[in-house]
Amino acid sequence: MTKRSPFSDQPAFPQKKDTTHRPATRIIEAGRDPAAQDGAVNPPVYHASTILYPNVAAMKEYPRLRTRYGRHGTPGTHAFEDAMSELEGAAVTCLASSGLLAVTGSILSFVKAGDHLLMVDTVYEPTRDFCEGMLKRLGVETSYYDPEIGAGITSLLRPNTKVVFLEAPGSRSFEMQDVSGIAAAAKAPGVPGGAERVVIMDNTWATPLLFRPLEHGVDVSIQAATKYIVGHADAMLGTAAATDRCADQLQAGFRALGFSAAPDDTYLAFRGLKTLHVRLERHWRTAEALIEWLLRQPEVSRVLFPPLPTDPGHTLWKRDFDGASGLFGLVLNQGTETQAAQLCDVPELFGIGFSWGGYESLIVPNRRLPRSVTAWAPEGPSFRLHAGLEDPADLIADLQRGFEAFRAAG
Ligand SMILES: *Cc1c(COP(=O)(O)O)cnc(C)c1O
Repeated sequence: MTKRSPFSDQPAFPQKKDTTHRPATRIIEAGRDPAAQDGAVNPPVYHASTILYPNVAAMKEYPRLRTRYGRHGTPGTHAFEDAMSELEGAAVTCLASSGLLAVTGSILSFVKAGDHLLMVDTVYEPTRDFCEGMLKRLGVETSYYDPEIGAGITSLLRPNTKVVFLEAPGSRSFEMQDVSGIAAAAKAPGVPGGAERVVIMDNTWATPLLFRPLEHGVDVSIQAATKYIVGHADAMLGTAAATDRCADQLQAGFRALGFSAAPDDTYLAFRGLKTLHVRLERHWRTAEALIEWLLRQPEVSRVLFPPLPTDPGHTLWKRDFDGASGLFGLVLNQGTETQAAQLCDVPELFGIGFSWGGYESLIVPNRRLPRSVTAWAPEGPSFRLHAGLEDPADLIADLQRGFEAFRAAG
């Protein structure tokens, strides 16, 4: 089959659409249409607010057009949406200018005053802040559940529980969740409110390459694309991908709220997506090298990383995920705050910064983690590390210097 170029003097390209391809192949093909753009490999970046119509009759078709107003996107940003929808197995993907906005926009798209939200206790802190602040003010009550509750979530469901929100592994503490068990229990036909309930998951740690929430009963899958998808610490973007059942309501919500994604940042996300599988593999391999070394240090009590066979979430990780990224937790036996600061300050290759998923390694000490129904009681100082794309041997030598400074400050 051939695809006609809209430019009559351009030769036609063969149509490529083989859905049996594996994820690494599909990620390369996803969202691209060189035939529509004179053979250029990547989608164009349009800077557009005004979209013109050839005549009034065409203008009246406005609601049915995909490219119709700058805020709703252009062929360039639609290319990224399409690529994400393909990877997520979604009917639509909606964009927002940050990961947090993708989270808040998804929740706001489905709740009304008087509704109840069940939130995983180990959620990303700004998501919790949104629930406790704005959502409470709008008359939506949030209660929290243990990430390890599984199908036991049934006992916490109320007839007005509209949204069940998941995030795995847990923020900072890395607990896994039984996603399919929770989603099935939340939407069980016999459970009051089950038919209308919406399950939303923040899947930033795994990306849709390593875990596809929609295949496990989740209705809306969220990515802080800022992290691994952009992958170079240079753009902010969020995505929310929905099943057919939730697509219209999610899209209507994002449109009502006026969300828009910058064309250049969306292009960076599209470009990042094309190397995501290669980068993730390296992030994971380097994380494993660092962890192997860390576990041999006498000060290390635990490493929080589901791929470790000793990790409490290992079985679920192995059942559901196709791999791991490079973000993990570290808990020491004991130590002072000054010692903990030395462990972060002295290494030169590990930046002290929050937004992970870029090519660089990071380390941050944990403050007290906000928890409502679970306990976070580390034995000593705890940290979050991101394994970047540097040579693992250099990173280990760098951490070694950090540990020496930690010991010297004790
Ligand atoms: C970083 C992050 C977000 C927020 O993404 P931003 O683009 O920084 O707003 C949301 N959820 C998780 C799990 C994150 O790590």
